[in-house]
Amino acid sequence: MDQWTETETPHIAEDGDAAFRYRVESKSRPGTWNLVDLTDRNGLGTCSCVDFQTRANPNFKRIGYHIPWGPNREGRTDCKHLAQAKEYFYQTVTIPMLAKFKNGIPQDLSDFVP
Ligand SMILES: [Zn+2]
Repeated sequence: MDQWTETETPHIAEDGDAAFRYRVESKSRPGTWNLVDLTDRNGLGTCSCVDFQTRANPNFKRIGYHIPWGPNREGRTDCKHLAQAKEYFYQTVTIPMLAKFKNGIPQDLSDFVP
């Protein structure tokens, strides 16, 4: 265990049928859901929470490059929800997709059409 390991599973839900958008529940304010869009900011993603709006995104606008979320990481340009949604996407979309490509890209891609 290190300082970056999450001990609690975050509450994350897909935002209806909107691709790449997730709702992430606030840990400090249960019942409050933040909207994360992984495609905004040229793929770096955005979040509706106060931390992103007042700290992370202003950092990005000031320094001009991406610094991932980390506890007390100076100058970070992501909030915790954004990091959690990216991890959720990686676990639920990227890894299963790569597993299907284990034997090469199939001719029939119907498995990937919702
Ligand atoms: Zn956030």
